[in-house]
Amino acid sequence: MADRPYIVGNWKMNGTRAMLSEARAIDRAAQRYMKAEVAVAPPYTLIHAVHREAEQIGVGAQDCHPGAEGAHTGDISATMLADAGAKFVILGHSERRGAHGESNDLINAKIESALDAGLRIILCCGESLELRDSGKAEEFVLGQLRASLPKIEDAAERVTVAYEPIWAIGTGRTATLEDIASMHAAIRKLLDETYGPEQSAEVRILYGGSVNPDNARDILSTPEVGGALVGGASLSAESFLGIVVAA
Ligand code: PGA
Repeated sequence: MADRPYIVGNWKMNGTRAMLSEARAIDRAAQRYMKAEVAVAPPYTLIHAVHREAEQIGVGAQDCHPGAEGAHTGDISATMLADAGAKFVILGHSERRGAHGESNDLINAKIESALDAGLRIILCCGESLELRDSGKAEEFVLGQLRASLPKIEDAAERVTVAYEPIWAIGTGRTATLEDIASMHAAIRKLLDETYGPEQSAEVRILYGGSVNPDNARDILSTPEVGGALVGGASLSAESFLGIVVAA
């Protein structure tokens, strides 16, 4: 698994049924570019429809509630996501940590619930510009991961990490390749300590933050970058596939 780059489109709060044609185009093209594992995380409302369209690409969600069911108006559980066809869920995205005040404890409860429902997880981490400028980026990111990496036997199959510096998300600004390489190396070391080198080697570390068809090749050939979590550029099949081809 780890030898195939993993390219995941995070559609965020974008997409109506009109986007299904993009999903279809991505799926058809992904069948030709088998070198990469390709997936999209549409909004909840499109998960089942994309799942029905997709033969090749994986479908996932962008969040879940920590509980299995119950009186939680407006929430969606991991079990429901799996039932709708999701195979993974993105958790700990900085937009949820920020706008929804998600703590590591809440994220951990969601991780547990997702794993119980049979989903794979993409655990996001990343520092603010302030932390980067104060030289504390690595300490902060490793702290986030230490708090949330699930201590499970089959991490290789079920866990992906996404490093997304907050200041690079949706800003058009990417981290330098040196910054990416050094953060990914530090994350790999932590994964080695957490899971042992053999399991760790199978856990992919994605980079996210303004990845586009022009910068994808350089980013994806940086050591320890196992793929990309793509926001804005995943909203059209043409630009998303530009990244898939670069992989
Ligand atoms: P971006 O978003 O590619 O638009 O910067 C990435 C993400 O937030 O996952």
